[in-house]
Amino acid sequence: MDPYLSIVIPIYNEEENIPTLWARLSKVMAESFTDPSKPWEVIFTDDGSRDRSLVLLVAIAKEEPRVKVVEFNRNYGQHSAIFGAFAEVKGRVVVTLDADLQNPPEEIPKLVAKVEEGYDVVGGWRQGRQENDSFFRTMPSKIVNAVTRKTTGVKLHDYGCMLRAYSREVVDAMLLCKERSSFIPALANSFAKRITEVPVAHAERAAGESKYGLWKLINLQFDLLTSFSLIPLQALSVFGVVTAAIGFILFLGLVVYRFLHPEGTAQGVFTLFAILFFFVGCQFIAFGLLGEYIGRIYQEVRDRPRYMVKKVHQAQ
Ligand code: UDP
Ligand code: MG
Repeated sequence: MDPYLSIVIPIYNEEENIPTLWARLSKVMAESFTDPSKPWEVIFTDDGSRDRSLVLLVAIAKEEPRVKVVEFNRNYGQHSAIFGAFAEVKGRVVVTLDADLQNPPEEIPKLVAKVEEGYDVVGGWRQGRQENDSFFRTMPSKIVNAVTRKTTGVKLHDYGCMLRAYSREVVDAMLLCKERSSFIPALANSFAKRITEVPVAHAERAAGESKYGLWKLINLQFDLLTSFSLIPLQALSVFGVVTAAIGFILFLGLVVYRFLHPEGTAQGVFTLFAILFFFVGCQFIAFGLLGEYIGRIYQEVRDRPRYMVKKVHQAQ
């Protein structure tokens, strides 16, 4: 019988967390999902870990036939890792979570119950967010959340939380999306009719360190901005029109001033410099944005695969 519930977990250098994660997860699964008509499976993606993560995962898969391990040939990032597992899921309900135990596996039944109520996407909303992470990790998250709310138009509290549940239809729709850079929570919402959030507990990272630095987050933010809206490009045009108008008015003002004070000298040179630098700066920002879109178009047209699976491990 095909599984009813699929748990998806991306793994990148998490050897210290895997034993506890599996102990807690298998306990929850054994206790909360006992209905024999609703079998479950767990799919780990090893996203090119350099430590013993893969060895540990394969050992688990040998013991437990309901566990599958998708091995990537190198590191492709958390969201690609989740996609790699999505390609393998069989369940009607799909739950994703992080391996570092920041998302307690004990919350899974709550999310599954919501999907069973008829929601397509159920997001976790982290309560009492633990921030062992630095200021540079929390600040960008806040910005990511705010910008995502604006660009996707769906008002959720917490886009960063990867403890989420999806109906099978939404996962299938996401799998049809061939674009390389995609931010799963936002992508899922674009295919869902009924979306909700449930409060979930949030713990400190159990061991190891966050795989996200400032740059990875900036990249994620650009993913969001450019894959889900054309607002930045439209804002550029609006800005251009406004600037041109201001420039024209300034010009008229200068002409009038010249007539009123024919003896006036060029003491405005420095003001002009200031204005010039400001606009040159704006132009570079604009070029940068255009470049970002063009770069992404280039990546898309090359149509390289988002990830490469080396092997799928599963006990027979
Ligand atoms: N992860 C991954 N590939 C990566 C980076 C992260 O599969 O390139 C996994 C990681 O093992 C963890 C999850 O994604 O299970 C979230 O990563 P992390 O805890 O570092 O992110 P944060 O909690 O800081 O947002
Ligand atoms: Mg984490």
